[in-house]
Amino acid sequence: MKLDVITIFPEYFAPLDISLLGKARRAGVLDVRVHDLREWTHDRHRTVDDTPYGGGPGMVMKPDPWGEALDALAPRVPGTPSGTIPSAPGGGLPTPPVLDETSPATSEGASGPVPRLIIPTPSGRPFTQADAVRYAAEPWLIFACGRYEGIDSRVAEEARTRMPVDEVSLGDFVLAGGEVAVLVMVEAIGRLLPGVLGNADSVADDSFAPGAMESLLEGPVYTKPPVWRERPVPDILLSGHHGAIARWRRDEALRRTARHRPELLSRLAPEVLDKHDRAV
Ligand code: SAM
Repeated sequence: MKLDVITIFPEYFAPLDISLLGKARRAGVLDVRVHDLREWTHDRHRTVDDTPYGGGPGMVMKPDPWGEALDALAPRVPGTPSGTIPSAPGGGLPTPPVLDETSPATSEGASGPVPRLIIPTPSGRPFTQADAVRYAAEPWLIFACGRYEGIDSRVAEEARTRMPVDEVSLGDFVLAGGEVAVLVMVEAIGRLLPGVLGNADSVADDSFAPGAMESLLEGPVYTKPPVWRERPVPDILLSGHHGAIARWRRDEALRRTARHRPELLSRLAPEVLDKHDRAV
């Protein structure tokens, strides 16, 4: 999988060289390239921001370097509309296609795969495990790290005419920049790639994993010793009865979800609930 990251702080991405993701990069499973947005500026100060139209505090990231960066990484296929949409014969404007999360995962352009552009922003739709799974199946993702008050909105709008664009939020809080958000997403996606985790089966038992855990939080986990500071591991886990252990884990997952995230329970599809689930 190919990942391009555009940022004004390339040094933020040093952690991608360590642990599982570092291993995945060295094994060639993950090809990550980090680009400095300022490479696409042309003034002495390498300016990437300007004051907001309409007034107000803070600065906004200028569209020009972003447009040039995206053109350089994912060149526009000749013949498709550019940022300035020309008038169509007859005076009307042609309607460019809008490519977003509903667009096919692995769209092929005339000259090869088309990347998906992911823009982290608190005003996007929530990033979920289902997105991580979907993105892990794509050949090429580009991440755009915003700073200041965010990126001029025309950048996403123009990019949507030639590649799928998702604006995604990590949660209901505001970070100083998109770098940490991108690190989080790359880790969530990267660990799902074939060969990255030592035991690929472990992802199926994770909280939110598609299938039986789709809207559930994982219950408590334990390891040796069997008693620690007078606290024993639940007997059932030492019983060797796999069916009973699976039932206990499922009950604990349901209880923990009810306690910490009750709204998730209402999303559980009736067909994934059995009569024992309903009793918990
Ligand atoms: N003015 C923006 C707003 O209120 O929606 C916040 C901008 S924030 C200070 C700067 C950048 O941090 C954003 O452009 C985005 O890249 C990133 N960011 C902040 N919070 C985020 C979140 N919850 N999820 C994803 N990205 C976030």
